[in-house]
Amino acid sequence: MKITFLGAAKTVTGSCYLVETKSCKFLIDCGMFQGHSKENLLNEEPFSFNPAELDFMILTHSHIDHSGRIPKLYLDGFKGTIYSTKATKELCGIMLPDCGHIQEMENEWTNRKRQRAGKPPVKPLYTYQDAVDCMQLFNSSGYGELITINDGIRARFNDAGHILGSSIVELWVTENGEETKVVFSGDLGNKGIPILRDPAVIESADYLVIESTYGNRLHVDNSNKVERFVDIINETIEKGGNVIIPSFAVGRTQEIIYDLHQQREKYGEKLKKLFNIPVFVDSPLATSATQIFRNNLDCYDEEARAYVENGDNPLEFPGLQFTQSPDESRALNDRQDSIIIISASGMCEAGRIKHHLKHNLWRKESTVIFVGYQAVGTLGRKLVDGAKKVKLFGEEISVNARIEMIDGFSGHADKNGLLEWIGKISKKPRKIFIVHGEEEVMGEFAGFIHEKFNIETEIPSKGDSYLVNARRAVESLEKAEPSYQFRRLAIIELMETLKEEFDELAEILKSELKQEKDDLEVDELKAKLKGLEKYMIDILK
Ligand SMILES: [Zn+2]
Repeated sequence: MKITFLGAAKTVTGSCYLVETKSCKFLIDCGMFQGHSKENLLNEEPFSFNPAELDFMILTHSHIDHSGRIPKLYLDGFKGTIYSTKATKELCGIMLPDCGHIQEMENEWTNRKRQRAGKPPVKPLYTYQDAVDCMQLFNSSGYGELITINDGIRARFNDAGHILGSSIVELWVTENGEETKVVFSGDLGNKGIPILRDPAVIESADYLVIESTYGNRLHVDNSNKVERFVDIINETIEKGGNVIIPSFAVGRTQEIIYDLHQQREKYGEKLKKLFNIPVFVDSPLATSATQIFRNNLDCYDEEARAYVENGDNPLEFPGLQFTQSPDESRALNDRQDSIIIISASGMCEAGRIKHHLKHNLWRKESTVIFVGYQAVGTLGRKLVDGAKKVKLFGEEISVNARIEMIDGFSGHADKNGLLEWIGKISKKPRKIFIVHGEEEVMGEFAGFIHEKFNIETEIPSKGDSYLVNARRAVESLEKAEPSYQFRRLAIIELMETLKEEFDELAEILKSELKQEKDDLEVDELKAKLKGLEKYMIDILK
């Protein structure tokens, strides 16, 4: 079979792998690229294969960076079955239409701008309705169930402990009477994550495609992360501020609700003041997702199940409120008392969280608590990295609020978690493909794998193909030529780098303004910049 890495190759987002066997063609995941503007452009690129020719696809989990281009795949002609777990299907049923809605809104904004510039309108990547329509392709199975897809292909979903319904996919492909087993880790969760079971142990693999988001680092000891979380909330409330928690609507939000519920049980009396503070989940998507969590009790671990069996809903407590309308959301900003707002998106790129940041970032008594990974280039990452000012709705906002990042909430296994999981595979893979990570992280992670298990690794680039069978894997020489769009993206990347250099230079100059010395170096720099300006005008011509 041939495996082509079409996304999450030397990046974190856009998971998409094309598998071609003697008898069929299919995808594992079809995620959206997220982050920088150049990554967003990748979503608009045509697929490098004909979607109508795909026989089926397998989806590891519902996160948009794994599922977000499914409606586009559907629009471009894919009409095959999408295999997933039941919870993944249900979560996609709300997450994909939500994503379609965001595409429509962003498209409206783009078109308004285009109209002013006298340019014709463009279509959104897909609409809310397109996403609703593609849901008919889903076919759900339970964990541990062996699915015979056709004569040559079987698959099985196993707990990945990452988000409700998330799975590690075992794939058996029979070609020329020989069976090859490839395991796709999907995103692997942290051990002991609330609500969900730990990642399942996989018996064997000929090849492993593994994520590496945190492949070079260890999570801080998270045994007291919930206590730290509660302490920060307490300190903020003492000062009369609000606590803003940018959170992924699906998964992290429910985890926080669960943790707050549990803390309330443990320390209800001691933290009485804290527990009188209203907690608002201000995201319609998070509200629907919480309902899906409540409907999929079979995914719960023992601890969460014990609550349910005792008649206690672990995703509910007094004071917890779900806001629906935009008016209810806006009303939160007019309140005079301290409140806790959990809102999406988790990286602050879209959604209601941006309003809450606008109303709270400038207030030194408020706190923003990040509880998840912040991708490079996102507003969340800028805040975590200590930005003093940020732009929100075209307005410059000073960052005076306390900014906290609590690492222990990560939905991804760290370096040790990943290595331990590989260690438990009895019959080790002959080769490991490392995906879903930032490039330098992957290099380090490959080193750890080699050191610990002496297994060969590959770090595929986008578009790389490998021919694999039970005996060997070779890199396919036929590589897709960088397309027209690829070359444009390379230019955009170069320009972004230049822009960053300029910003840095401007910062240095600003910090030295007070010294008012008109030295030779500054004059030289001015002359060089004048030259550059002339050169750029030439390019633009
Ligand atoms: Zn994920």
